[in-house]
Amino acid sequence: MVKPRSIWTKNGSVRQKMRARLRAEGRACHLCGAPIDYDLPAGHPYSFELDHIIPIARGGEPYDYANAAPAHRICNRRKGARMPGDKAQLVIKRTELF
Ligand SMILES: [Zn+2]
Repeated sequence: MVKPRSIWTKNGSVRQKMRARLRAEGRACHLCGAPIDYDLPAGHPYSFELDHIIPIARGGEPYDYANAAPAHRICNRRKGARMPGDKAQLVIKRTELF
């Protein structure tokens, strides 16, 4: 999906809309593959967070929905700024909670 560059002029609302869209889709965590409980309060380890497939720190587009995916807060923290293809491979261990 191609989005106009003009979205950069209203970043805050774009991010909110991206979060709302991910929440409405209700997809599973893109890092561990387990479902996300979208009703958990922000800050909970397994709550929903908007993650960027290519981290912003690595040049990813922060407000491009194609670069956004839902993740558990804890998975997002474990991932840090790594991305697929890095020498330091991303390894997320599945636990009983997952
Ligand atoms: Zn996860």
